Amino acid sequence: MNESTPLTKKTAIVGGGISALACAVDLKEKGLDFTLFEKEGSVGGKLCTEKVGGLTVEAGPDSYLPEKYWSVQLIKKVGLAGEMLCSNDEHKGTFIFSRGRLHPLPEGVMLMVPTMIMPLAKSSLISWPGKLRMGMELFVPPRCDLKDESLAEFVTRRLGRECLERIAEPLVAGIHTSNPDNMSVMATFPRFVDMEHKSGSLIRGMVAAMRNRPARDPSAPPMTYFMSLKEGMQELVQGSVRYIGPERIRTGIAVRSVTKRGNGYRLTFSDGATADFAAVVLATPSFVTRELIGAMDPGLAEKLAAIAWSSSATVSLAFRRSDIGQPLPGFGFIVPRVENRRINACTWSSIKWANRAPEDTLLIRGFVGGGHHEELVSLGDGGLVAIVREELRGIIGLTAEPVVAKVYRWFQGMPKYTVGHLERIATIDERRKAHPGLYLIGSSYRGIGIGDCVKSGFDAAAAIAAL
Ligand SMILES: Cc1cc2nc3c(=O)[nH]c(=O)nc-3n(C[C@H](O)[C@H](O)[C@H](O)COP(=O)(O)OP(=O)(O)OC[C@H]3O[C@@H](n4cnc5c(N)ncnc54)[C@H](O)[C@@H]3O)c2cc1C
Repeated sequence: MNESTPLTKKTAIVGGGISALACAVDLKEKGLDFTLFEKEGSVGGKLCTEKVGGLTVEAGPDSYLPEKYWSVQLIKKVGLAGEMLCSNDEHKGTFIFSRGRLHPLPEGVMLMVPTMIMPLAKSSLISWPGKLRMGMELFVPPRCDLKDESLAEFVTRRLGRECLERIAEPLVAGIHTSNPDNMSVMATFPRFVDMEHKSGSLIRGMVAAMRNRPARDPSAPPMTYFMSLKEGMQELVQGSVRYIGPERIRTGIAVRSVTKRGNGYRLTFSDGATADFAAVVLATPSFVTRELIGAMDPGLAEKLAAIAWSSSATVSLAFRRSDIGQPLPGFGFIVPRVENRRINACTWSSIKWANRAPEDTLLIRGFVGGGHHEELVSLGDGGLVAIVREELRGIIGLTAEPVVAKVYRWFQGMPKYTVGHLERIATIDERRKAHPGLYLIGSSYRGIGIGDCVKSGFDAAAAIAAL
């Protein structure tokens, strides 16, 4: 880069996670000029798959929700439609560790809302008073105002404390690695708020939504609720890079600041070089974005500082199948915070997905930190592996010796959408309008899932095309 490159009509994308890649793919498709800058040696951000022997180990996400169809759009754009992988639903099932043993999540419970009476009535997970309280949801009057509240307040008000502690907290807050006591229900599950207002009850709303679900198109490729890619999630990164063209991607170069320059923006890089662009897309986490724009707009930086982040770790363990004494139920289990264990969840990766381990090997992935016991993420690899093994011994009696262990830490890996998040994002959007051609995308703002991140990239590309 030259000391002062003349302003071009080019766009700079800062960051190389899935939001940035989606934006780049869309800009390329639209025939627009851009360069993507990533501080690490390779792009992908949280999407990172490691091949270890015959194992396919996911460091971050292992799936996307096809319901959020933007991820499927991206997969198709980059020519990976044939690589989409359904989960092995013949083994499907979620188990919840409660009061010393695993209980199946009652059939018909959608996220946290019961839609079938008999499976809930027969369930060993919830006490009789708890089940009755969940059923009473049909008669709880809806709130009239649209004020945000915490997931804990919302679930306790509608479905009762036991549903919060045994189902909603591990299942729903767990996805966000967040604490339900301050997690915004409006920002994370607006669908529930909408159901309460439109149907007067979550149970009524969910049953109606299931009835009105459009029939599956028999000519469409088969889809499961969670989908992945045959070679792991990083395949989407590789496909995107091929589509974008490596000449438009600069890795190993961190952006240090963004400042105004004429009608555009000047980027300053870690080596002190600068380059000017007509538009800039900041696809970095909010705590990085805040630093980058701090000198240009301290007020906007202050708003970004209000978004908190949580840290978590994944611990993947491979075992010889012959060493595992017992059949493993479903796709894995989740652990409510009230159980005070040191893992949040465990997935049987090679049972949930084909292609993850050789026939004679079982790949398991444990989750530590996030909503509870976040301090454990700082332990060394040996400490984290020991914790997951101890918990597996305590919860399912698994004593076998792993043949492979891989630990990945995600410090400040997931934004926490706390109560008032949407209002904060609206203020950030408003302030950002003072900087035409500057876009903030990624998991910090309007959805942490891959689908929402991809959408944020597509939206920025559409706005740039309209400039
Ligand atoms: C353990 C884990 C499991 C998850 N599981 C799922 C799942 O199964 N399904 C799902 O949908 N979602 C899942 N998520 C969430 C999802 O993966 C993330 O929200 C999403 O990938 C974030 O993408 P992003 O583009 O916003 O940011 P990131 O992936 O964080 O990318 C940001 C990029 O910016 C780069 N960068 C930072 N600073 C600079 C700088 N100064 N200059 C240049 N580059 C910079 C970083 O190196 C990084 O590559 C999971 C997340 C984690 C941590």
